[in-house]
Amino acid sequence: MRRPPGHAAAALAVLLTVAATADAAERAVEPLPVTEAAPGVFVHVGAHEEADAANHGDIATLGFIVGAEAVAVVDTGGSPHIGQRLRAAVAAQSDRPVAYVINTHMHPDHVFGNAAFPEAQVIGHHALHAALAARFAIYRDRLAESVGDEEAAALAPLRVDVAVADSLTLDLGDRELLLTAHPTAHTNNDLTVLDRATGTLFTGDLLFVGRVPSLDGSLRGWLRVMDSLNGPEVARMVPGHGPVQDDPAPALAAQRRYLEGLAAQARRLIAGGGGLMQAQADLAPPDDSDGWLLLDDYHGRNVSAAFAELEWD
Ligand SMILES: [Zn+2]
Repeated sequence: MRRPPGHAAAALAVLLTVAATADAAERAVEPLPVTEAAPGVFVHVGAHEEADAANHGDIATLGFIVGAEAVAVVDTGGSPHIGQRLRAAVAAQSDRPVAYVINTHMHPDHVFGNAAFPEAQVIGHHALHAALAARFAIYRDRLAESVGDEEAAALAPLRVDVAVADSLTLDLGDRELLLTAHPTAHTNNDLTVLDRATGTLFTGDLLFVGRVPSLDGSLRGWLRVMDSLNGPEVARMVPGHGPVQDDPAPALAAQRRYLEGLAAQARRLIAGGGGLMQAQADLAPPDDSDGWLLLDDYHGRNVSAAFAELEWD
């Protein structure tokens, strides 16, 4: 029996292509740098920047918690590529499977790496799915513009497998996580994760450190929720942006100063009677002795959001 000419060469070419692709993938996926904030709790701190092609959307604080049987990832980064790098960071620390991806809220820098964990159960606040569905196309287009078309094309379809109505305890094997769904604050779908074994609380964007807080929910609600975060069971906080806080009180106080200053500014503008247009024209940040980064990018939007909320007081 004669083979068609060129068959062997074609087969070899296919093999070489497969090998080259696998090799390229290996080389491309460098594990995200992580630090061990507490035994079995690993944290990666992204840049205080807007998402772009250089940082691939690596602008949030991400982490994972290793139990005896399973690993839970808390937020996955701003693109499928960052998710892959987080997955590589997990593999470097543990051979346990990533059974759960916990998303602290809807924002793209926290959820767009989910594609790297297709076998994990995705867990979020009960309002996460609807909130993200409403904006998914906009967020995907923005990712295409800021990071690139390839990343946008690689996004996983929106999926929330377990919706947390109030609270939920997850067992990773000799290690329990307490997930708490909060009333509207930073967004309407904020979820915190407490590792009971070490007292480490992943706050998501209920706490910003360094980068100016961005308001996409309720200013009054956020100030209220902040009061409940720092309980006696909390030994440290992992914010949604910025480094781990072994003493979270100063960071909470700085964020409170900003949010209360924002409320005061919005109330002054409302009392002035100039309407939202006038408020948008008056975007000067309040006294910024805390030195927030990206203040110019976010303060104006925060004023608009605060104005719209407090106008009805
Ligand atoms: Zn956020």
